[in-house]
Amino acid sequence: MNESLQIRTFKRAGHIEVICGSMFSGKTEELIRRIRRAEIARQRVKVFKPKIDNRFSEFEIVSHSEQSFPSEVISSAEEMLEKSFDAEVIGIDEGQFFGNDLVEVCQNLADAGKRVIVAGLDQDYKAQPFGPIPDLLSVAEYITKTLAVCVVCGAPANRTQRITASSQQILVGATNHYEARCRLHHIVNAEPQSENTGTKEEKANAE
Ligand SMILES: [Zn+2]
Repeated sequence: MNESLQIRTFKRAGHIEVICGSMFSGKTEELIRRIRRAEIARQRVKVFKPKIDNRFSEFEIVSHSEQSFPSEVISSAEEMLEKSFDAEVIGIDEGQFFGNDLVEVCQNLADAGKRVIVAGLDQDYKAQPFGPIPDLLSVAEYITKTLAVCVVCGAPANRTQRITASSQQILVGATNHYEARCRLHHIVNAEPQSENTGTKEEKANAE
């Protein structure tokens, strides 16, 4: 009995939390909120973001509501293993931009007793599963789906509408190229914005 108590005190189980949803749904805001709570409890926190995302700042993660938290830019998920050695809580923003090795790295960190919180887009602008996030959802202990508000009808929105012409999966640093849309108003093959947004909305309503 005493022995098992001792083991429990020594070895703490880690876990993975995923915060996912469309753009403008407040993922980074929620990540920052959780990290700050941990920091207030004097836990050692470390926040990372992928190199691809330098839209606002190299040294911090920034939400659309302009909250920020210091972060380190890394080129691969693997870098987190050595860089978060003494961290108890690890935050990762824009998780969708990492390779599939993000899943194994998060598993290793959680196995080592750490709390791992990943924020990321679950779907790309075509509403297809995005990067490693779907696989991460299957192994995570906690999943939070954040919703935005559809700019067309005001319904809860879990999709990201690209409103400029480009077929690249990633268009970084271009929040004005996107809008939150609901299932009904999300169109995969949107016309370029130059044609005017009204047309798109009429088309969506007609379907
Ligand atoms: Zn809508």
